[in-house]
Amino acid sequence: MKILITGGAGFIGSAVIRYIINNTNDDVLNVDKLTYAGNLDSLAHIEHSPNYRFMQSDICDAEAMQQAFARFKPEIVMHLAAESHVDRSIDGPAEFINTNIVGTYTLLEAARHYWQTLDEDRQATFIFHHISTDEVYGDLERTTDLFTESTSYAPSSPYSASKASSDHLVRAWHRTYGLPTIVTNCSNNYGPYHFPEKLIPLVILNALEGRPLPVYGKGNQIRDWLYVEDHARALYKVVTQGTIGETYNIGGHNEKQNIEVVKTICTILDELKPPTNGQPYESLITFVKDRPGHDQRYAIDASKIEDTLGWTPEESFESGISKTVKWYLDNLDWCRRVQDGSYQRQRLGIGE
Ligand code: NAD
Repeated sequence: MKILITGGAGFIGSAVIRYIINNTNDDVLNVDKLTYAGNLDSLAHIEHSPNYRFMQSDICDAEAMQQAFARFKPEIVMHLAAESHVDRSIDGPAEFINTNIVGTYTLLEAARHYWQTLDEDRQATFIFHHISTDEVYGDLERTTDLFTESTSYAPSSPYSASKASSDHLVRAWHRTYGLPTIVTNCSNNYGPYHFPEKLIPLVILNALEGRPLPVYGKGNQIRDWLYVEDHARALYKVVTQGTIGETYNIGGHNEKQNIEVVKTICTILDELKPPTNGQPYESLITFVKDRPGHDQRYAIDASKIEDTLGWTPEESFESGISKTVKWYLDNLDWCRRVQDGSYQRQRLGIGE
């Protein structure tokens, strides 16, 4: 298969590309603007594969998107490019509206025009897979509630509102134009190559540097954590076996309070890299003012993808978080290049 992946230099997109290149014979075109969140270092192990190509482009650039379709002639599109950090969306929503909404619209139009030129057989097998988040469903109040594919949308942040808008556009392009689309909504991911502004890598790296471990409010917000490689397998399963027009929720059955996550990381680090000052890493935890509009609880009912496509996560939270902490300890060079900005200078061709 020929798969056009947007946002393939990001955290989840790079996991999807590594999975496809390492496990299949599919050809991948990675279309990525390389914003601050795009890091080609995350694809270093597969970048010389004959099945992999990279195009630095903005999904809002209609002409570039048309060219990507015309030249690569994809059979599948996996659309992951997005602005993804909630805190950044609060400080500056414009980029989220632009990339997540206008960018998705632009990509849908390029896909639709290309799809209309295909013969009937190829039209029938084409898939536009939109990768989205459980945050579009908003906050869960009762502790027993779970997000299902029919839960109403109620986004709380500029990020989740922009993703909700993009999900609606994708559904409308299916309903109105017949474009064969699938949407997936996934819970919080964690794992290797995660940009250090997100909770888990931030805590690992701050702890190693003896810096405060910031926790919003009381740290009692609950998220349903999924190991990123389990998500990558789920996404591939959806594009190879999923049903057009459907939505699939993807989650890890790992509901944890943020404070539990932070303490678990501290305990693993205490063992693997005992602190030099003898103080357990937990002593660095610092509670900070809560984020405005912060949702209290997200939790996914993943029974549809489990029952219909036979996908289940391979990692428990315990196994996945241990692997993740070990990965960061073994890949401090990757982290250093993100922290000092050299990952960006190299790809722009500027010497260090
Ligand atoms: P990320 O921020 O790590 O990566 C985003 C990628 O998109 C980067 O490589 C960036 O350079 C690229 N990009 C941004 N704007 C672009 C533009 N205008 N044109 C082309 N490329 C652009 O994000 P992620 O965590 O890998 O998330 C990927 C997708 O999965 C997003 O759509 C996100 O909403 C969704 N998602 C993320 C999570 C999570 O926990 N991280 C959970 C569920 C769903």
